[in-house]
Formats: sequence, structure tokens, C-alpha cells
Amino acid sequence: MIPADLLARTQQRLPWFLQHLRQLVEIESPSEDPAAVNRAQGLAAKWAAELGARIKRHKQKNFGDVYELRFGPQRSKQKPLLLLSHLDTVWPLGTLKSMPWREQDGKIHGPGTLDMKAGVVMALTAISVLRDLNLLRPVTLLINSEEEIGSPISRPITERLALDSQVVLVLEPAQGLALKTARKGVGNFNVHVTGIASHSGVDFERGHSAVLELARQIERIAAFTDLRRGLTVNPGVISGGTRSNVIAAEAHAEIDVRIARASDEKRIDRLFASLKPINKACALTITGGLNRPPMERKAGTIALFKQARKLAAQLGFDLDEAATGGGSDGNFTAALGIPTLDGMGAIGAGAHAAHEHIVTEHIAPRTALLAAMLATAP
Ligand SMILES: [Zn+2]
Repeated sequence: MIPADLLARTQQRLPWFLQHLRQLVEIESPSEDPAAVNRAQGLAAKWAAELGARIKRHKQKNFGDVYELRFGPQRSKQKPLLLLSHLDTVWPLGTLKSMPWREQDGKIHGPGTLDMKAGVVMALTAISVLRDLNLLRPVTLLINSEEEIGSPISRPITERLALDSQVVLVLEPAQGLALKTARKGVGNFNVHVTGIASHSGVDFERGHSAVLELARQIERIAAFTDLRRGLTVNPGVISGGTRSNVIAAEAHAEIDVRIARASDEKRIDRLFASLKPINKACALTITGGLNRPPMERKAGTIALFKQARKLAAQLGFDLDEAATGGGSDGNFTAALGIPTLDGMGAIGAGAHAAHEHIVTEHIAPRTALLAAMLATAP
């Protein structure tokens, strides 16, 4: 059972939540700017220290530092619960000028509010409530610095901590009102075509167009999509050529791939490896692969969701589950077989878009749900 006044306690902390979230949002923290990300990270770590956290700072050179924050009793028979989060955003420095912190009509707008600074402050709020109630178990809050560019350096840290944890809760936003029990795997492929340049008027027949070759290859690549399998392939960026009167020597495509089943990783690798030049005078170079494995809807995740739904009912609201095509750091931990539940962060809309916002009325109930999960997880 959870304390009867849990929701009231998170509601009382709403002003604290808003004040702290505002400070974090007003420190812009694009993934590409390590100093900026470190400013946001440092502030969150300072608040965590005030809540008794033991702090491990994983220093990085080309990215912001990754923070591992441990709460609760140092010695315990229970394995820790792992909370995954990040404080980098997709928003460049200066975004606040056009997208300032704004509270209006029950919503809070600002860069990174939903994705996912609110999730970090919700975690600190939930931990503070549980501390007051003497219900805090060992909890590790991991704050990554480069999630929006695929977690290149935090991935091994996430995986190591997950293997040592009971369960993983991901503080990414909910899907509408629903928690996320399945996520697609995400991959990136690059196709580079080398042709032979020549003057399109004087030497037309000596040229072999990389642009034409790429255009033909893209038709083949797009046909890898298989909607029934949940496998999609998007040639999202192309470039090539220099001038209209030059037969193009180079062309390039960047392709996003999503898979719903882990077993499709091999399939997609095989499909890309099977591409051969249509014009034999052109050469293809293909690089890339799967970046995040899919989070498949497995027993451990289903059990966590059922527990969350039961707790939500005690707190007075219904809870659904959903699948999404987007990836998160939860993909890594689920693929290791650690029960992972995603979407435990804020409710809102417009992640990565100009209307990014969270909905104020859901903050306290969802923070209470998070606290309840931390207090009762297996
Ligand atoms: Zn995110």
C-alpha cells in the first residue's frame, strides 16, 4: 500500500517543482555544447546533493558530463532501481528568446520542458517526498548529456548500471497520457556514391552520374520498408553534384531505419549489404547500422506496467500503455533483459517542436505515481 496522502504531498511541492524546473529550462543545454550541458547538470547535481545524493561525475571530453546520483540507504539487500534521464536538449543556444518560459492556460512552455527537464525535477521531487516518509529505497538517477544525439558515450554507463539494477524507469514524456511499453529500434545508414565527373555538354558520354545512381538506389532502399513488420526506411537527406552542367562525381544519402523486432537487425543489415551499383562505373560505400535495439513488449515490462496501473488507480486515475516509433535510453536496458518501463516523465506535447510544453495539472499525479513505483517496485 502507498501512503494515503502521497498525492497531497506531491501537490504541496508543486511550487518547488515549478521554481526548480524554471531554473533548469532557463539554462539552455544543447547536446553539442558541453559547457552548456554541464551548467544544467551541475545545478541538478547540487539539488540532488541537498537531498542526500552520493554523486559520481563521469567526466567527458567532447560532451557534457554524465551524472550518476545515488539516493537512499548505502547498504541494502535490495538492488537499486534505476531512473534514466537526460538534460541535453535539441534546442540551440538563444532559443529562449523566441521560446521563453511561459505559464499560460494550464501549460508551461519552454525548450526542453517536456523532453525532459520536467522528468528530472519530477524524480527529485518524488525522492524528496519518499525521504520525508522514510520510504526511500536505493535509487540511482542517471542524467545523461547526449541522449538527443544517440547516447554515444553514456550507453555503456547506462548498460552497466542497468545490469546491477532491479528495474529501470525512464523519465521520458508519456505518449499522450499512456506509458510506453514498446519502442522501435533506431538505425542510421549512409550511402555514398562515387561516379565519374565530366562536362555535360562537351563530354557527356564519358561521365557517370553519381546523382542518377543514387536516385535509382533510393528507390530500392525505400522498398525495404515493410509496414506489417513495423520496419520503416526513410531516406531523409540527400546531397550530390556541384553544378547543373557537370555530371556529378559524388552523391550522398542519410537514411533512418526503424525496426519493431530485434530479429530484424540482421535482416536490415543484409538488405543494405546487398545493394550493388546499377551503373557498374559507379561505386557504393555503405556505412552505419542499428544505433538502438528495439524495446520489445516483454513479460518484465508488462508486469511493471500492471503495477503502475494499479498504483494509478489508487491515486485516482486510469493508465494506458502505448508503443512508439521513437527510441530512448530505455531501448538499451530493455534489450539487456532488465524490466524497463518508459514514459514515466511529464505529460505534454511538442517535443522537438516550437510548441513544446507540459500540462501543469498532471505534474503532481504523475510525480506521485513515480514515487509510488519507487516505493513498491519488486
Ligand atoms: Zn528525451
